Amino acid sequence: MIQVTKPFLPPVEDYKKYIDKIWQRQWLTNMGPLSSELEMQLKEFLNLDHLIFVTNGTVALQLAIRALDLKGEIITTPFSFVATTSSIVWEGCTPVFVDIDKNSLNIDADKIEAAITENTSAILATHVYGNPCEIDKIEEIAKKHNLKIIYDAAHAFAVQYKGKSVFEYGDISICSLHATKLYHSTEGGLIITKDPSLLKKAALMRNFGISDFNKFAELGINGKNSEFHAAMGLVNLKYVDDIIAKRRELSLQYNIGLKNVKGYFPTWNTNSDPNFAYYPIVLQTEQLLLNVMEELGKNQIFTRRYFYPSLASALPYLEPKDLPITDDISKRVLCLPLYYDLTIEEVNLITRLILRTQNNTQW
Ligand SMILES: *Cc1c(COP(=O)(O)O)cnc(C)c1O
Repeated sequence: MIQVTKPFLPPVEDYKKYIDKIWQRQWLTNMGPLSSELEMQLKEFLNLDHLIFVTNGTVALQLAIRALDLKGEIITTPFSFVATTSSIVWEGCTPVFVDIDKNSLNIDADKIEAAITENTSAILATHVYGNPCEIDKIEEIAKKHNLKIIYDAAHAFAVQYKGKSVFEYGDISICSLHATKLYHSTEGGLIITKDPSLLKKAALMRNFGISDFNKFAELGINGKNSEFHAAMGLVNLKYVDDIIAKRRELSLQYNIGLKNVKGYFPTWNTNSDPNFAYYPIVLQTEQLLLNVMEELGKNQIFTRRYFYPSLASALPYLEPKDLPITDDISKRVLCLPLYYDLTIEEVNLITRLILRTQNNTQW
């Protein structure tokens, strides 16, 4: 069986070494030494000044919205994982969806200004599949209208934009370190900002708002993470370069096999290089997508309609909104299996099955 993704597991001996130390110290959670070590090593790896390790990417989004004290409307993308939108609603704000660009599959920066009202406080954009948004245009718009920017960079671990970590952009960027992501700590998230006072605020909020023994400086929640998760993050960090190299090799093999596929691939931002977190294709029709899924499924190969349906029409707690490009793309986009243990032979099998299905599909 081939799943769409499979979490990376390091050699268990590597992990056990850290676990033995946890047993010796008997410090299990609450910003312990491994969590601090992970934060330090990530800053070094990503060349960043400020970040904190939190429970998961969703809590990171919620803390980002809170730390920036956002109110009213937040302009966002309908083509993302549900947590991007649900965090906005959870924090009592209103998501305002802007359609995506059909080539990058990111929010269309040229359509943002038309969605701004006097109630808009921020733009929350996702770097979809790790592909950076039109960061310069978004910054210009935010500056002109005095809006904050949050980037949902859950897919963008290790991505650079103009020679710097993509996490440096926006008032806050968040990342998810969930088991299914390119780099993970089982569960986990990161909050990244260039502003030390904002980071301090988010760090207080992560720990119930407790500033000192018996002192409360902020409204807070439990956004901490444990030493066990930090240990997984520390071990996996040693393998990230390997993981990306392997995914790159598999992706290039897909490219060769799918040269004549009836569909197209999202275009990557020219100021950046891919991290190979996903392998998406936009097929020519939804029928072809369904046929491909069926054929692969018969062979125990599982793909994922990521992201389908459009968040602007699928959520029972929001008024549905039609956005022509998102509605069209989300029906036709498919993510193919891509993970560290996948083999070139398996990629070849998948591409052969896709081409066979395409030849058997009525046009
Ligand atoms: C995974 C993901 C999240 C949520 O992260 P968790 O760590 O699972 O809470 C948010 N946004 C996007 C785009 C994601 O892919």
